[in-house]
Amino acid sequence: MAPLLFVHKVSKAYPGESLGAVNEVSFTMKPGEILSFVGESGSGKSTLLRMLAGLLRPDKGEISFQGTPLEDPEEQLIAGNPAIKMVFQDFDLMPNMTVSENLRYPLLTYNKEYANDRVSELLNLCGIQDLAKKLPRELSGGQQQRVALARALADEPELLLMDEPFSQLDPVNTAQLLREVLRILKVAQVGLVFVTHDTRDALMISDRVGFLKEGNLMQVGSPAELYRKPKSEDIARFFGPINIFSSETVQVHLPELSDRLTGKNAVSIGIRAEDVELSPSEGRLRLKVNTHEIFFHGDHFSVEGKLSWGMPFVFQTNSPPEKTGEDILVSISLDRLLYFY
Ligand code: ADP
Ligand code: MG
Repeated sequence: MAPLLFVHKVSKAYPGESLGAVNEVSFTMKPGEILSFVGESGSGKSTLLRMLAGLLRPDKGEISFQGTPLEDPEEQLIAGNPAIKMVFQDFDLMPNMTVSENLRYPLLTYNKEYANDRVSELLNLCGIQDLAKKLPRELSGGQQQRVALARALADEPELLLMDEPFSQLDPVNTAQLLREVLRILKVAQVGLVFVTHDTRDALMISDRVGFLKEGNLMQVGSPAELYRKPKSEDIARFFGPINIFSSETVQVHLPELSDRLTGKNAVSIGIRAEDVELSPSEGRLRLKVNTHEIFFHGDHFSVEGKLSWGMPFVFQTNSPPEKTGEDILVSISLDRLLYFY
């Protein structure tokens, strides 16, 4: 069976720009899969998504949907593919239509009975029955987002595209909506390409995550792979606070790790702030940290300080030292070390 999406060496440079916005990106997607793209602002996420939506023509490369190349948006009357739906950041609902009418709008070409049934089904699926008769302006951001999602699903697309869809919502609403989206997509068996700069959102809902940097797809893999086996220091840093030791540093200051570094042919070693513990037990890497600052984050503290040779060091803990400015001993399980090549 053809993959849902087949993307091969797709590139795009905007006119007048010397650097490409997207460079030779390749990946495939299975039906019903949830794939997120993360990366800093300007890394090419939106450009890639617009090409997948069939709204922007790649300069080079191939995009096939269910085995058929996407049509050239510049030669279409209405750009895009009916089985691929984009959910826009601003929801794009019709202001003078009720929620029901907004959902019925994409179904105008179907007979009335089917359209009615489908609208009830969508209201149910997205948990918005109570909103059916309301106008968009009478809804909260989260409710509008649900309606926008229901509308995108109306015509039973195979693939949904979302570009930072929750940037206007607060974290509580976002977390709840993400769960909801996940449930709805799994029921409807719709694939999703989800673009976000929030790594927690991406890790939470994705089957696979891709990391973009300057238009290049640096790594794509399961959420656990990107988090636990990041291929580069950039990727590791993007997913949370980390301490990175170059091979020179290891040789000079952490000779006990030298063998591990050379054994793996790695050029540096990373220690995530959350993998550091205050109990210096046997068989672990031990470090002395002179603490400078303690920050409260609600569910944990982060402590910043310096190692004996002056390098900054950060770690997280639930029970921080009572005062700063003192040396404390911390330890790290050796199998938690990250290696970069
Ligand atoms: P992201 O969504 O990850 O923030 P974008 O795809 O929007 O990244 O942008 C990728 C790069 O392309 C950036 O350097 C951006 O400045 C540039 N870019 C985006 N849209 C345009 C445009 N319409 N014209 C020229 N350059 C653009
Ligand atoms: Mg963007």
